[in-house]
Amino acid sequence: MVSSDGSTSQAQQAETRLVTSGRDTKAQKGFVNPPVVHGSTVLYPTAEDLHAHRGEFQYGRHGTPTTRALQETLMALEGPQCAGVGLAPSGLAAISTTLLAVLKAGDHLLVCDNAYRPTRNFCNGLLKRYGVETTYFDPLIGAGIDALFKPNTRAVLVEAPGSQSFEMTDIPAIAAVAHARGALVIDDNTWATPLFHRSLDQGVDISMQAATKYVGGHSDIMFGTISANAEAWPVIAENIRLLGVCAGPDDVFLALRGLRTLSVRLHQHYRSGLDMARWLAGRPEVQRVLHPALESDPGHPIWKRDFTGASGLFSIVLKPAPQQAVDALLDTVKLFGMGYSWGGFESLIIPFDCSAYRTATKWAPGGPTLRLHIGLESTADLKADLERGFAAFNAAA
Ligand SMILES: *Cc1c(COP(=O)(O)O)cnc(C)c1O
Repeated sequence: MVSSDGSTSQAQQAETRLVTSGRDTKAQKGFVNPPVVHGSTVLYPTAEDLHAHRGEFQYGRHGTPTTRALQETLMALEGPQCAGVGLAPSGLAAISTTLLAVLKAGDHLLVCDNAYRPTRNFCNGLLKRYGVETTYFDPLIGAGIDALFKPNTRAVLVEAPGSQSFEMTDIPAIAAVAHARGALVIDDNTWATPLFHRSLDQGVDISMQAATKYVGGHSDIMFGTISANAEAWPVIAENIRLLGVCAGPDDVFLALRGLRTLSVRLHQHYRSGLDMARWLAGRPEVQRVLHPALESDPGHPIWKRDFTGASGLFSIVLKPAPQQAVDALLDTVKLFGMGYSWGGFESLIIPFDCSAYRTATKWAPGGPTLRLHIGLESTADLKADLERGFAAFNAAA
């Protein structure tokens, strides 16, 4: 994992590791970045090498100099617990690959009720068809999750905070119970990234990211990553091979390029997001702001204990208002685009309704809910934009 620059060390700060890891100046003939290797076939120089499968690379699907640079950088970011990183063509593919790798027919899976909806669809659809039973649990359950374990419970999937409702889950407490029960802990760490939440240091065995979001950072790739500790990595690595999961070379390169600036971008999303959250909390149209880095948020103590920062994604609950007032706000704002996904440089706004899919907990926020992604624009401009939106909201209410 040490680059030929000799510069990668776990003792260094994450900011430094993001910049220095996965760089092999000599192999890159002096260039700072690795080439985008488009490749399937790798040629062996002799029959002996061929028979022994000898060589740094064997086949495009199993890795290239570009994927290796990305994997080394992600490993350096995750920290010393990370035994390997798998790459997938989307965040959802990282999740489905992980679940297929870990589970078998007859197993039981525990999933937090605020998990990303397509994760639930995968559990309720394909996993169910393959004989895996899923039970959803209250994200605030903590050590109480013990009561939900069955003799065949193989894994627990957590996501903190939930990417619409932003409850904070006590991951270390859940991990302690899961490990005592012989189950693996899987975390969707997309919101905080390993920069702000070192899940593998907190009892998580497999930490996944939709790198489509902050790792890519520019709304121009679909990408997923699977980081695993020494216990879980062999089964992840084996099943990535069995399933034939791999990512395209241009997206691999863009994910690596995104990682180099992840720290500076994420710190700005954190600052701007919190600034906007505090401003929104003071607006008369807003009933509640769902952002764990706000001192008033019920999840704040857990966030403060387990996370070192927050990203730019949070939600608000508006005062009760008709749909047309919410739509007037959405149609008035110009800097906030209406669209799914997040983690890019641009601000987004989207209405959501968790009650449409939740099963273990009741979602009754008491007003219309909007999710905001705070991008890298000036927050003064974003506030002015939302002020115009609120004026249209009030006029239509
Ligand atoms: C977007 C997202 C995913 C899925 O990522 P894709 O790259 O869109 O497949 C998974 N989990 C969370 C929390 C997400 O926000």
